[in-house]
Amino acid sequence: METFIQVAYLLASVSFIVAIKMLSSPRTARLGNLIGAAGMLLGMIATLFYKEIVRYEWIGVGLAVGGALGAWTALSVKMTAMPQMVAILNGFGGAASALVAAAEAERALLSSHPSSAYFLTTIGLSVLIGAVTFSGSVIAFAKLQELISGRPVTLPLHHYQSLILLIGSIVALVGYVLGGGRVAMYGTALLSLLLGIWITLPIGGADMPVIVAFLNSLSGLAAAATGFVLNNYLLIISGTLVGASGLILTQIMSKAMNRSLWNVLFAAVGKGGPAAAAADRSIRSTTPEDVALMLSYAKDVVIVPGYGMAVAQAQHAVKKLMDALSAKGIEVRFAIHPVAGRMPGHMNVLLAEADVPYERLYEMERINPDFPQVDVALVIGANDVVNPAARKDPNSPLYGMPILEVDKAKSVVVLKRSMNPGFAGVENELFFQPNTYMLFGDARQSLEALTQALKEI
Ligand code: NDP
Repeated sequence: METFIQVAYLLASVSFIVAIKMLSSPRTARLGNLIGAAGMLLGMIATLFYKEIVRYEWIGVGLAVGGALGAWTALSVKMTAMPQMVAILNGFGGAASALVAAAEAERALLSSHPSSAYFLTTIGLSVLIGAVTFSGSVIAFAKLQELISGRPVTLPLHHYQSLILLIGSIVALVGYVLGGGRVAMYGTALLSLLLGIWITLPIGGADMPVIVAFLNSLSGLAAAATGFVLNNYLLIISGTLVGASGLILTQIMSKAMNRSLWNVLFAAVGKGGPAAAAADRSIRSTTPEDVALMLSYAKDVVIVPGYGMAVAQAQHAVKKLMDALSAKGIEVRFAIHPVAGRMPGHMNVLLAEADVPYERLYEMERINPDFPQVDVALVIGANDVVNPAARKDPNSPLYGMPILEVDKAKSVVVLKRSMNPGFAGVENELFFQPNTYMLFGDARQSLEALTQALKEI
């Protein structure tokens, strides 16, 4: 039986690596996801054959309740709520790791054998990282779900308090490793829970993607630590894979913000006041018919999707507009900002769902030099990722973040419902530029009207 379990674990580990590789391209991502899920199932089945399992009743209850909840949430969650779901799932992963480690610690305390320093260290690390991941993810979830303000929340001397909590957690962990007592272990858990909250509360505005990726990485590291506690190779391998890929994603996201992880975690950027009133400055409001006319004269059109496209579920309408423009011989490209939407790859997923050819998607560095030659930049529910303040205004919370430079295009059309700011809560100078036209309304309805008007020209 032991051999069967180890072979199954090996196969599952290979399937995870293959899955990650396949997830890196939209063409193979769906199959990769299935392969990863199949590997996970195999790993779970193999684990059920462990000889240390004496009764299956509670495992059955856990599987039934957890499986039903998982299936229900996955089926009912709206595409726009995916980021929150990813955030909270990270948190549950961290909590599970910490709880399993704590259970092993309790078991060791009940047995008469003294525990090795190695065993206690792995337990302590699993509890520490798992607890930080859990509480941090709950706060990230609450921010993304708008249960609490998405802006940075800081207490006086906040970062010193975080530092004290970090040092306190480490001291409690060392105390646990040296003494192996309950107080030190639960003390580590409590201080780490507070640390997770303290680290995540000051993150806000456009920095959220970085912390979500970071918590994702931590959830993997917590699982890997628990793998060492249990001597479970599958958990070590899968945890390390999540930890490493999460860390790479964190780095990509930090780079997209042009900041270091340290700066994101400890600078509380985005704490600026509310957006200045825009009422006294003039904007140009336009109609679908006028935009259709403008587009019909264009040769080179770039579509910039953002979070609003996801809210409006406008990806299919975007594809229809692309088809209508292409039918008139107009070149259409899509400019994708790495933090557009509310989760990494958000825009890629939506556009792939609508069958927009992957070759038409251009990353920021590739398309930015082309904007001065672009006839019309069509901004669909994007805001922060096209805000020129990031380039021009040193006082802006977005300052320094590389943006899609649509303001340099010959004409800009922005589809959104109002003059409300984006996620970072700052006003967008782009909307007041002389070459910018605002097409107000729900993005999907505006796009449908626009495509209809274009076909009638
Ligand atoms: P923003 O959040 O900056 O702006 C979205 C815009 O969409 C809003 O201004 C809103 O304006 C508009 N909108 C909303 N609903 C609709 C609708 N139905 N029809 C038309 N427009 C609509 O989005 P961006 O994509 O530009 O930027 C993403 C932001 O989110 C960045 O600050 C990023 O850092 C942050 N973030 C990103 C994550 C990621 O991993 N990608 C994770 C967490 C945060 P109005 O209300 O007037 O319609």
